[in-house]
Amino acid sequence: MVYSNDGFTWTPSGGRREGLPTIGVVQPSSHFVFTNNPDTTVQDIIYDVLVIGAGYAGLVASRDLATQGKKTLLLEARDRLGGRTWHATINGFNYEMGGTWIHWHMPHIYREVSMYGLHDDWIVTQNPGGKEDYFTTVIGDEQRTFSHEDEADMCGRVYRIFCNLDGDDLRHSWKYAFGTDQSPELMAGWDKLSCQDRLNQVRDQLSAEEVGVLESQLMQMAGTTLDKIGLVGALRWWILGGHTGTGLNDIALHTRLRSGQSELHRRIFEHAVSTGNLSYQFKAPVQHIDQDTASGIVTVTTRDGSTFRGRSVICTVPINVLSSITFSPPLPADKVEAVQSSMTVNRCNKVHVDLNGPDYLSWSSLASPGKGLISAFGDHLTPADNSHLVCFGPDPATPLGLSLDNIDAVKDALVHLLPRSKQADAVFNRIVSHDWNKDEFANGTWYFPPPHATTKYLKVLQRPHGNVYFASADWSDGWCGWIDGAVQSGMQTARQVMLEQQKERDEDGRLLHVYTREKQAQCITRATNAVSDRLMDASECVHVCPA
Ligand SMILES: Cc1cc2nc3c(=O)[nH]c(=O)nc-3n(C[C@H](O)[C@H](O)[C@H](O)COP(=O)(O)OP(=O)(O)OC[C@H]3O[C@@H](n4cnc5c(N)ncnc54)[C@H](O)[C@@H]3O)c2cc1C
Repeated sequence: MVYSNDGFTWTPSGGRREGLPTIGVVQPSSHFVFTNNPDTTVQDIIYDVLVIGAGYAGLVASRDLATQGKKTLLLEARDRLGGRTWHATINGFNYEMGGTWIHWHMPHIYREVSMYGLHDDWIVTQNPGGKEDYFTTVIGDEQRTFSHEDEADMCGRVYRIFCNLDGDDLRHSWKYAFGTDQSPELMAGWDKLSCQDRLNQVRDQLSAEEVGVLESQLMQMAGTTLDKIGLVGALRWWILGGHTGTGLNDIALHTRLRSGQSELHRRIFEHAVSTGNLSYQFKAPVQHIDQDTASGIVTVTTRDGSTFRGRSVICTVPINVLSSITFSPPLPADKVEAVQSSMTVNRCNKVHVDLNGPDYLSWSSLASPGKGLISAFGDHLTPADNSHLVCFGPDPATPLGLSLDNIDAVKDALVHLLPRSKQADAVFNRIVSHDWNKDEFANGTWYFPPPHATTKYLKVLQRPHGNVYFASADWSDGWCGWIDGAVQSGMQTARQVMLEQQKERDEDGRLLHVYTREKQAQCITRATNAVSDRLMDASECVHVCPA
């Protein structure tokens, strides 16, 4: 299998090795269609759409455009598909390096799973039956053990107290999980608060142990200290989990694809390629986006100086790296402010640890403050029957986090979570991770908003800049920050671009409706047909007929 430059693995015998094998690497790294004419160069072509970024948002947008006949060019900085979601395969085991758990209650990604025949390809993370079949908490110096039933009860109870701002579990004030414009006054009030502010409001309803459990849950959600985490992000997850204490866990930490996320990326990508409309270039970081205001043509320049032209651009780079791209004309001031003020606060570490032996299959843990990791839990056995644990730790830049360069610190942090009587027996077979915080094309992990971001900036982030459109999980509706949000945003933005490209303007600035020939013929006879009425004000619309 081909190695990506991303990720690393550590073993006792081999030490640390950079790069991981994954089916996500695309070779050869470029492919250009529409260049059959020997006199035509890539630079001569004006693509219908240039898509920047081959994560879920960019892949879905590219596929939707290519299957609709749009000449599309996909430009990706890395050597692989998937962006913040990808899996590596080592000794027959799939390690999900980023986005992992998806569910049929996530409608957009489930459509992809089912469309590409992966609807029976699930495995469940939380399996019963291991020897250490219980939940360990380490709050301060005190370690305690609970059954998994008590774990669900305690974690659900404290999260519910935290989210129940209106005494009704937000069932009426935030009814529709995919919208943020309900109860605007309440929402604006909540959005001013950090999770620390809210914890201070409910602290007297909780025991010291429950405060510790809640703190570690929130830090696992958002990867940093509670003062930086926007309350609305935590409330949104509550709503998406079905307004129950355990719903989120059942949906968002339960099922993953047996064949791995990169398998689904390949299927989406190969579908797009099979149309003959998709060109692509990997290892091509975009540096500059220039729009010619007269012609509307957008020119994109990559780090090596190559230029590509398109009628529209869909930019899907994560919010934390968007400012590494320059725009001409520049982004408007409100958009610049939105990007700067809404960056994801989440800079967590996700670490895979294989412990010798099968005992930890069904073990789970939470710590506050922990020693660099705040949670670890069993997720299957490797083919050699060792326990595979997934661990999360907060931002290394805070006193609570750890540097992934320090393997001994990673081991110590996990040992701190393990049941005390077993700590001396722990044998580390393998550690696998990717340092998302040092990754220049991510600079953080999944999106989690700071206070103020959702009500003030979400719509501004979603707004196009001339012919440049923006799609990302980071500013999606619904499962914002999740894989589902990336798919939703990619799908919606591709459609928005296609609709926009059906419109053109005449010399007086009036909208010309440009359709297929068949559609144009219909328009001649039915100039005020219902479709056009719906799309735009008929008084400023002229239909063009075929020559
Ligand atoms: C550790 C971790 C765990 C997660 N766990 C889950 C989970 O269990 N479930 C879940 O639903 N979600 C999870 N997520 C979130 C999910 O992975 C992301 O929300 C989703 O993958 C984002 O997709 P995207 O297409 O919006 O952005 P990205 O995947 O980041 O795609 C953007 C692409 O743009 C590229 N790019 C960046 N800069 C440039 C440039 N200058 N030029 C060209 N290309 C560029 C990047 O390389 C990348 O490929 C997790 C994320 C992380 C990091």
